[in-house]
Amino acid sequence: MAPRLSPKVHVIGAGLAGLAAAVRLSGAGLPITLYEASPRAGGRCRSYHDPQLDAVIDNGNHLMLSGNHAIMAYLKAIGASDRLAGPSDAAFPFVDVATGARWSLRPGAGVIPWWLLDPARRVPNTSVWQYLSVARVMSAGGSATMTACVGSSGELYRNFWEPLTVAVLNTAPGQASAGLMRPVLRETFLKGAEACRPLVARDSLAATLVDPAVETLTRAGTTIRFGTRIRALTVANQTITALEADEESVPLAAGDVVILAVPPWVAETIVPGLSAPPPGEPIVNVHYRLPRAVVAPGDVRIIGVVGGAAQWVFARGEIASVTISAARDLADTPAEEIIARCWPDVALALELGDMPVPAARVVKERRATFAQTPEAARLRPRCRTAVTNLLLAGDWTDTGLPATIEGAVRSGFTAADETLRTMSAHKAA
Ligand SMILES: Cc1cc2nc3c(=O)[nH]c(=O)nc-3n(C[C@H](O)[C@H](O)[C@H](O)COP(=O)(O)OP(=O)(O)OC[C@H]3O[C@@H](n4cnc5c(N)ncnc54)[C@H](O)[C@@H]3O)c2cc1C
Repeated sequence: MAPRLSPKVHVIGAGLAGLAAAVRLSGAGLPITLYEASPRAGGRCRSYHDPQLDAVIDNGNHLMLSGNHAIMAYLKAIGASDRLAGPSDAAFPFVDVATGARWSLRPGAGVIPWWLLDPARRVPNTSVWQYLSVARVMSAGGSATMTACVGSSGELYRNFWEPLTVAVLNTAPGQASAGLMRPVLRETFLKGAEACRPLVARDSLAATLVDPAVETLTRAGTTIRFGTRIRALTVANQTITALEADEESVPLAAGDVVILAVPPWVAETIVPGLSAPPPGEPIVNVHYRLPRAVVAPGDVRIIGVVGGAAQWVFARGEIASVTISAARDLADTPAEEIIARCWPDVALALELGDMPVPAARVVKERRATFAQTPEAARLRPRCRTAVTNLLLAGDWTDTGLPATIEGAVRSGFTAADETLRTMSAHKAA
């Protein structure tokens, strides 16, 4: 009798969700094939060499927080824990374009927020009582928006809630789901300074989050098929029997499991009848190539901007980058105009004086995240599906978290754990 081949895992999509799933499963010694439509991994979290700037740039600045425990576990698994950078303490410096005022939000250590008693650590001109709005977010019902919890005016709204909501949920506070903000507050800000230190990729997203994962998988014997687009699944008796790629059909053996880790608008075309949340607003990034580095090598500066065109400025080496989330208004604005509009904010934030506008690149990610509204959040599917050997992963699946790296990685880990359960149930049957 021919030896029975051990069941295999087919992971479709090499964004962070697919990579996290594959990394966890390769650690368990399972045979895996990873299918990625594009020529490289990373998906919405990627880097590339820009010839005009002659620098490696990220598609977008990605801010993480020290309390993102799934990201930390993922980085450890791929040997890249040392590839994040950020200030040594939890400090969020801001500058107000209208007044030039600067301040720093500096949560203190421990879970009891004693630091709120110190006006120097709070948003200027706010009283400690106004921070009770946090409690309203934490207890809000499933259909509440952020403005229903925190209002839509005042210094705390303008200088804290609005920038935080737009950055985390890529949605204006009037439409953004309070339920999606809740786990972020619980797992980071409400745990104190240790959990809310801002972090970014030290050199590039690829060097921190993607390349080490691909190397780890390759070393473990994972087959990675770049340039392979899966466009359909053949299903019989609620079980996938083949993957349909552009130019071939890949047959599945009994016991094989499929993890579909593609964006929601692709998943809907591959899985008939799947309901997925619709895309939300674009995120626009502008990368300026400065004539000289403004931070020490390996260091990074992150500054929030209020009242300007930019929302966040990141300085790393000779690149200063601007992030603008919930950027529907900029979707059709010419790049040159965006570059000119944001530059004064960058020059102010980084104290560059009257430096002329340097060479710059605008990256518009039109479908950056799903629409993070209460209505859309209800459409997020769970990892398990009615098809016995199909599991879903991705930042848009029902992780309870916003569409972030932490959410994507956690969805991948969940899909990996469910795969192991499915496989042991199959073995026992
Ligand atoms: C500009 C921008 C800024 C962001 N800023 C932040 C931030 O500051 N902090 C943060 O935590 N998060 C941020 N995010 C969100 C974060 O990037 C995403 O949540 C995360 O990358 C999603 O990973 P994913 O694996 O779920 O999906 P994706 O990255 O979309 O991965 C899906 C993969 O599937 C592949 N694929 C698609 N179709 C097929 C197919 N038919 N067959 C095979 N492969 C296929 C794609 O090529 C892709 O590689 C930002 C996103 C953007 C775009």
